[in-house]
Amino acid sequence: MRVGVLSLQGAFREHLSVLDSLGVSSCKVTRPEHLDGIDSIILPGGESSAMVRIAAGTGLVPALSDRIGAGLPVFGTCAGLILLADRITDDSLDGFDRLGGLDATVSRNAYGRHRESFCAPLRITGLNEDFPATFIRAPQIVDLGVGVQVLAQLDDVPVLVRQGNIWGGSFQPELGSDTRIHEKFLHGLGAAPGPLSHV
Ligand code: GLN
Repeated sequence: MRVGVLSLQGAFREHLSVLDSLGVSSCKVTRPEHLDGIDSIILPGGESSAMVRIAAGTGLVPALSDRIGAGLPVFGTCAGLILLADRITDDSLDGFDRLGGLDATVSRNAYGRHRESFCAPLRITGLNEDFPATFIRAPQIVDLGVGVQVLAQLDDVPVLVRQGNIWGGSFQPELGSDTRIHEKFLHGLGAAPGPLSHV
């Protein structure tokens, strides 16, 4: 079992180090050929407009979109959620390939500017203790299709969702030392070592 981390820009190192700490084999994904050896993929927080520009013309986005459509498990955090959402409320990424696949509408930067970043305790389905979630210029989920399961909400707004093999979060679980959401995602794949820790 190998987990790829989209490593074009953003907090990919943080995801790789969480995977390392869990003893899960991982690799950076920057080109279509890197998709060959992976069994799932994580898309980090960062800047989605930079990611789509860096990926443009490489063939990576269409190839990854095909793999996700064929069932590759994927977890997009923050900017990664924006890449996965079927709809965005503005036209800022128009003209660039995006993945899509998650039946959701997101509003970029709706949780405010960088200086309005915050951490909030979240109640997450399947976890006993609240999860300290970091929101940085985060996208807000403004609409969800009926087939999308909500795993956590903040003030009645979904912030962690799942549609089959596709997981998305408005916040960045890769920041901080709590690895339980990664474990939860990996467990579904049979990739996490041992039972879920401290759930
Ligand atoms: N505001 C960023 C974007 O639109 C996302 C922020 C983040 O990933 N922390 O891509």
